[in-house]
Amino acid sequence: MASSIKCLIIGSGPAGYTAAIYASRAGLNPVMYMGGQPGGQLTTTTEVDNFPGYPQGVDGPTMMVDLETQAKRFGTDVRFGMATKVDFSSQPKKVWIDESTEILADSVIIATGASAKWLGLEGETTYNGLGVSACAVCDGFFYRNQTVAVVGAGDTAAEEASYLANLCTQVHLIVRRDEMRASLIMQERVKKNPKITIHWNSETEEILGDANGVTGIRIKNNVSQATEEIALTGFFVAIGHQPNTSIFKGQLDMDAQEYLITEKGTSKTNIPGVFACGDVQDSMYRQAVTAAGSGCMAALDAERWLAASNLH
Ligand code: NDP
Repeated sequence: MASSIKCLIIGSGPAGYTAAIYASRAGLNPVMYMGGQPGGQLTTTTEVDNFPGYPQGVDGPTMMVDLETQAKRFGTDVRFGMATKVDFSSQPKKVWIDESTEILADSVIIATGASAKWLGLEGETTYNGLGVSACAVCDGFFYRNQTVAVVGAGDTAAEEASYLANLCTQVHLIVRRDEMRASLIMQERVKKNPKITIHWNSETEEILGDANGVTGIRIKNNVSQATEEIALTGFFVAIGHQPNTSIFKGQLDMDAQEYLITEKGTSKTNIPGVFACGDVQDSMYRQAVTAAGSGCMAALDAERWLAASNLH
């Protein structure tokens, strides 16, 4: 029988890497599968100014490379690959990578994070990569000196609108209510920027385009019912995230938004030996530093559970 990995970590954001650092140092010889977006969501951000210990800030991708280097320094086996199926009904647990490789693991730390949400418009699929994006930092460069729109009213939308305003001629921010959810400082930055036009009480009805990609959008004011067409080439959706939990359905307890449920004050899921950390179990704080903190908790919980189960 194949020997089990003592501690399998799924996901490579701040939660996964912090779990890896702690698990490596505790002698659990962790194996990490990085998932579809190595480095996680921070690889799509520019400046991280609020992570303690970086007084001048740090850009997201650099921070993730630093975390990977640190995890590897203590011996984490970092591998490419995406967990596509799990079976937590027996011990050791079974996890399939890229639909083929079967992994046996004594303990599993889930740090699969969350992914961008879409509006559900047909044009989002038709023009994905041809003008439609959920990541200004990844794709903004292609829209230099052009007109673009950002949908959303949270910190992500505010940050993306400000980022794009540095590159683009004009940014239309489409907000569905008459106020923004973003923190006041971010809102002020957006409102003061002469390149950003905010369309309040507005919803996107259709993304317009041709064979070359997006040519505009039609928005509707949900108070006056008036519609307006805006000519633009880039359409950025920034309306929040969905936790990456589909492969755990039916096995792990989830809340109504499909975030994994952990026992209060711990990283324990409903299955002994399976732990969750980071955004996949946190709909409230969703910060790099809280994800990292919960990654530490998951590694400590895994170590204690393995020891109590005579597996370490
Ligand atoms: P949020 O959930 O905070 O905001 C989502 C926004 O999208 C809301 O304003 C919501 O509108 C709007 N929205 C949702 N669905 C639709 C829809 N169908 N059509 C139009 N608009 C829609 O997500 P964020 O990604 O902005 O932020 C997530 C977390 O990350 C937050 O805690 C945030 O503070 C944090 N963050 C912090 C940053 C920083 O500090 N630098 C940067 C980015 C994020 P409504 O308000 O009407 O519900």
